Amino acid sequence: MTCIFCKIASGEIPSEKVIENERAFAFLDVKPLVKGHVLVIPKRHAERVTDMPPEDASAVMELAQHVIRRLEGGMGIQGVTVAFNDGRPAGQEVLHAHMHIVPRSETDGVGPIHRLFKAQARLREGELREIGVRLRG
Ligand code: 5GP
Ligand code: ZN
Repeated sequence: MTCIFCKIASGEIPSEKVIENERAFAFLDVKPLVKGHVLVIPKRHAERVTDMPPEDASAVMELAQHVIRRLEGGMGIQGVTVAFNDGRPAGQEVLHAHMHIVPRSETDGVGPIHRLFKAQARLREGELREIGVRLRG
């Protein structure tokens, strides 16, 4: 087993654990964007979000809810950004699916994730519907 997050989930590599359940594990990011930056991973290896079986995906979400409550209760944080960098184009560096929970404040100046993009997509007339049709398959 070479995956670093598999090793963290099994305890082979130490981490600052926050909470775990049967299928998922939450720990502090070693290079936090802000204090209290937490990662939540499935214990069973899955590279991408779509590789997680539904029971692991829901365990990750269940743990995320606990983590957010603890951040908001224990650290006075009033909001979080929850995100997966899913796939290399999205910036995923560790190839074991992980949810980032990043504490936010009104004054951090970061704004919504929409700010990752400089402008909205320009759509031709009817293109929204075409995309919807394609996605519905
Ligand atoms: P990605 O860019 O893949 O979404 O983010 C990977 C995250 O994992 C980064 O924020 C990075 O700081 C964190 N990370 C990488 N290796 C380790 C590690 O060994 N321990 C912990 N706690 N976090 C790690
Ligand atoms: Zn792994």
